[in-house]
Amino acid sequence: MPAQQMSHTSAFAFASLRQRGQTAGTLSRRSRMKPNTPSQRSGASAAQANAPATGGATVARVAVPRPLRRLFDYAAPTGDAPAVGTRVRVPFGSASLVAVVAAHGNESAHDLKPVTEVLDAAPLLPPDLLALAEWLAAYYHHPIGETFAAMLPVAARRGQAPPELDELVWQPANGDALEALKRAPRQREIYARLRELGGIADADVASVGLERRHLAALRAKGLARAHVVAPCYGVREDHGVSASPAQAAAIDRVVQSLGTPTTHLLDGVTGSGKTEVYLRVIAEVLKRGGQALVLVPEIALTPQTTARFRERFGAAATLHSALSDAQRFDIWLKCARGVHRVLIGTRSAVFTPFADLGVVIVDEEHDASFKQQDGLRYSARDVAVKRARLLAIPVVLGSATPSLESLENAKRKRYRYAALPERAGAAAMPAYRVVDARRERLDRGFGDSLRNAIASHLAAGSQALVLVNRRGYAPVLLCTKCAWRAQCSHCDAKLVYHRVGRQLRCHHCGRRRSVPAECPNCGSDGLRAVGTGTQRAEEALAEHHPNVPLHRIDRDTVRSARSLDAGLAAIRAGGPAILVGTQMLAKGHHFPNVTLVAVLGADAGFLSADYRAPERTAQLIVQVAGRAGRAQRPGEVWIQTFDPDNPNLLALIHAGYHGFAGNERELRAAARMPPFAALALVRAESTIAAAADALLDAAVPLLATPGVEVLGPAPAPIARRADHHRSQLLVLAPRRRDLHRALTALEQANLKARGVRWAIDVDPDMW
Ligand code: ADP
Ligand code: ZN
Ligand code: ZN
Repeated sequence: MPAQQMSHTSAFAFASLRQRGQTAGTLSRRSRMKPNTPSQRSGASAAQANAPATGGATVARVAVPRPLRRLFDYAAPTGDAPAVGTRVRVPFGSASLVAVVAAHGNESAHDLKPVTEVLDAAPLLPPDLLALAEWLAAYYHHPIGETFAAMLPVAARRGQAPPELDELVWQPANGDALEALKRAPRQREIYARLRELGGIADADVASVGLERRHLAALRAKGLARAHVVAPCYGVREDHGVSASPAQAAAIDRVVQSLGTPTTHLLDGVTGSGKTEVYLRVIAEVLKRGGQALVLVPEIALTPQTTARFRERFGAAATLHSALSDAQRFDIWLKCARGVHRVLIGTRSAVFTPFADLGVVIVDEEHDASFKQQDGLRYSARDVAVKRARLLAIPVVLGSATPSLESLENAKRKRYRYAALPERAGAAAMPAYRVVDARRERLDRGFGDSLRNAIASHLAAGSQALVLVNRRGYAPVLLCTKCAWRAQCSHCDAKLVYHRVGRQLRCHHCGRRRSVPAECPNCGSDGLRAVGTGTQRAEEALAEHHPNVPLHRIDRDTVRSARSLDAGLAAIRAGGPAILVGTQMLAKGHHFPNVTLVAVLGADAGFLSADYRAPERTAQLIVQVAGRAGRAQRPGEVWIQTFDPDNPNLLALIHAGYHGFAGNERELRAAARMPPFAALALVRAESTIAAAADALLDAAVPLLATPGVEVLGPAPAPIARRADHHRSQLLVLAPRRRDLHRALTALEQANLKARGVRWAIDVDPDMW
């Protein structure tokens, strides 16, 4: 973006931060740690804030990782302040903290404590990330120092020096060693996997389910090689896919917009070739010397996507949970230096610095995982849009089920809209069928109709996928004699019955206890497990369809990417099989042989109290339905429900996701909920029941100002979790600037109450 524009933001945001600092709470804090005077004047002139060199500034204004809404001044160690964006170590009270230089000042520096150590020779954060930090702190009403801390990789946050890791690549030795490994089945399996992959970057070994020590053992036998390579990016043109007219139009639009701050909404049904659009756009960016950032909900679940990018571009870096802190920091720096040209990552990858970022892709933009649920509660999708604006580059938001916000932005022409209404190649969209569960004889959740349908698809050599959106065996343990239910004693939540170890587990606080032999209330033997979780569905399916391979996929089976990958590989290999699991199944997989998708009770989400629940439920059903019939054979989607007349469900089935979304939009408009109002929650929790409410009561008059509606305090949906009582205020404003003004007033009041933790959640994803 033009330097001037950014400097303006910069000076403006920090000026407001300083004002916010002048509150009683922070002042008393300051007097305790004397020399850290708050910045007095808005000395951070535009040019200084962004100058790579210091220009003779003597004072460093730093953002410390503490919940304080302002910067602190320190004397430069050599009389010349480190550049803005540099990490420094500073004394703060009795602590020594890693902080970021956010601005400069020129006033007299005597009586200021000096910076203890300058940690980076050159700024770690480029100007666009500094500007983004200011925007984040202001938009999410989050302390600036903690905002910087949330943006930095953990290793950088801890003050570690930039690691210099070589890119090590493992490759199978030439020839066929399968024979030689006849007696070592595990190594044989690893070797076969390595051959299938062709090679694997050391950093990604864990993400594809391999282990370094096994590879090392193969190397010791001369069956694998490890060598150092620089990632080598290029664009493969011989991929043999020619873009459909709709794809070509979408690609063309995005390419035309390169170098401009344009947000595109790519609304393409599942399997319509959105990924192919991303690949072509990125190819163009790479040819022009730029870099690309691709945000995805979950990497471990979709190894095929990463493989497609690597195949097309020769390389692609991934930020995933199996990396060490040093590896993450290394990738971060290599993107900053332009060594990596394509980065695929989850939520926090949106904060990666780039030398020359040309485009940002947000795949499955509707996905809830893009919203951070604690600390800096940002939406990676919205941050991506902001960041692309700051850099004057396009961002592509892709989804088969776009969020109502994005659809509204497209409707109001803030986003450019491109549709891919048909599936790529020969695949047809699946057909829906609703089964009324009330008319069925149910065995552990499965009616006869559904059972027969599964059997006939299996008999035809196809695969079936069963979505049960609850993990565990049964969601309720009930006494049929006295109606007692197993409840968590630390949360307002029912305990879930897990068959493994016959345990009751709380899915909110993680506590476990064994299943009682008799009813703790009446002593009878009337205890029954009620309802169907994934484990119970698995048990039923195993009995109904013996001799058919069955894979359960939920958070209890998928402890590692490896266990998931093994299950998925078996499914992709073909042949009759059943997959049963939670929404993990709905995420982006391509299962060419699945022709039947069964949804068991997941539509109950339409009835949940959360305003976003109907949208989430519709997205889940459409996404999981999208796993069916992606290749030659057409797919069927069976929805077995106790509520077959639910209007949301009927709209979804008869008018598709857009029909549903149209209805939902009307309801949101009538209720003045997002996207027709800006929404924030003020969340408070305490071990003392009344304390959280008392704090929120004090917040109400600060927030309830013209143009702002405040509802509450009201108990959170799980009103008590791990012995903490949780309450919240709902803050709604038709105009966002009114919401921000109210939240700023709340921040400035700096409310405190003993034992109460509270936070502002802007654009909350759920209650
Ligand atoms: P989405 O990202 O929308 O789910 P993908 O890009 O994964 O869709 O495409 C689905 C399948 O269709 C993939 O196997 C892909 O290789 C194939 N495909 C995509 N575009 C085309 C095309 N223009 N012609 C033929 N096949 C295509
Ligand atoms: Zn009882
Ligand atoms: Zn609990």
